[in-house]
Amino acid sequence: MTTTEKLSRYVLPTYGRFSIAPIRGEGVWLWDSSGARYLDFCCGIAVCALGQSHPRLTAALSHQAGLLLHCSNLYEIPQQADLAELIVERCVSLPGKMFFSNSGAEANDGLIKLARRFGLATPNKNGDARYEIITFTKSFHGRTLGSMAATGQDKIKEGFSPLLPGFVHVPYNDALAVKEAINHNTAAVLLEPIQGEGGVHVAEPDFLLAVKRLCEDHDLLFLLDEVQCGFGRSGNMMGWRSIVPAIEPDAISWAKGMGGGFPIGGFWVSDRLLGDDTTPLSSVLGPGSHGSTYGGNPFACTASHAVLTEILDHHLPANAAEREQQIRREIASWNHPAITQIRGLGLMLGIGLRTELLNAPDGTSPAIHLCTKLMANGLLVPPAGPDTIRFLPPLNLSHEEADHGLSILRATLDELA
Ligand code: PLP
Repeated sequence: MTTTEKLSRYVLPTYGRFSIAPIRGEGVWLWDSSGARYLDFCCGIAVCALGQSHPRLTAALSHQAGLLLHCSNLYEIPQQADLAELIVERCVSLPGKMFFSNSGAEANDGLIKLARRFGLATPNKNGDARYEIITFTKSFHGRTLGSMAATGQDKIKEGFSPLLPGFVHVPYNDALAVKEAINHNTAAVLLEPIQGEGGVHVAEPDFLLAVKRLCEDHDLLFLLDEVQCGFGRSGNMMGWRSIVPAIEPDAISWAKGMGGGFPIGGFWVSDRLLGDDTTPLSSVLGPGSHGSTYGGNPFACTASHAVLTEILDHHLPANAAEREQQIRREIASWNHPAITQIRGLGLMLGIGLRTELLNAPDGTSPAIHLCTKLMANGLLVPPAGPDTIRFLPPLNLSHEEADHGLSILRATLDELA
């Protein structure tokens, strides 16, 4: 049986897949089972922040694999302590504490539990625990029952009712809609500083500032989902800081690029005090309130520590910002009729398409049609909805590699449009 046949026979059909099987990678390059080579601007959907087979990550994992793979949270885990210190001190640079998970959806479930405990600790005027979380249309927060309910896209939730209650979705970049959605049960606002799966939309600075102010005025948690945009991808170590540097969130979730390809997620919670001026927010998820068998294990934390120190030591957020300018300049110079706009920040870019020019066959999404043609020409990129493709290359992408990817995009668009 071929891989395609085995997948179809033995794996649940939840994913639509392109018909290549990457088996080896080096830097931004991937090779498939037929020996064909691709420039990888997908990176496991913003996961492989350092590309493939990065020497620092490979060495750290090889060393740790021979020492200790897993250890329960029943015991002290030095790698977890070191990673938490690195994230708090050198990445967030605000006093707070970490919880480690294995994925982005799990990290967001943690934020939802934090909001519920916060609402219990700070009840409304009737003495009832607050529990409602305001999230945004086109948002994506994950596939667990909690993170799926938080997600503002009906297609993700179809057929899974009854959903976890307590979520209200309002339009993104609309602070008035947030204000109008706040009621005596509201406990938090959760948002992606740059929406990824929803088509690559960046929060406007005024919107972030207004939501933060509303959170302060109504004693709500200001929660950021940086699962896709975090740890350098936006051109800053923290996604929100690439939009409004001065804002202080109450909690932040991450995954994806955090492990450079090894599964790890987590969330940070601020040490700021609640209204009573004695209880730190980071204490509301106390002993026994949350846990994960694998969360924060030595192997995953070693991976993440190597990835994040490489990103910091080599100023990869600045490289992401430079490559963004290069890509924007080059695409603007084409004035190509099939491209409507470029959205996003750093190396999280969405390229909007004039879909009628792409000649996609009936029943095929224009973005998927273009992705398939780009793949045939040696460039891997993911779609984001029917009219957008994404550039999510490694953060250490060179000028020449960016140029190479751009030349494939231009030639493919000329071929189609
Ligand atoms: N949050 C955001 C912003 C995401 O982009 C994703 C995944 O695409 C998730 C959460 C879910 O992460 P995971 O697939 O690791 O559960």
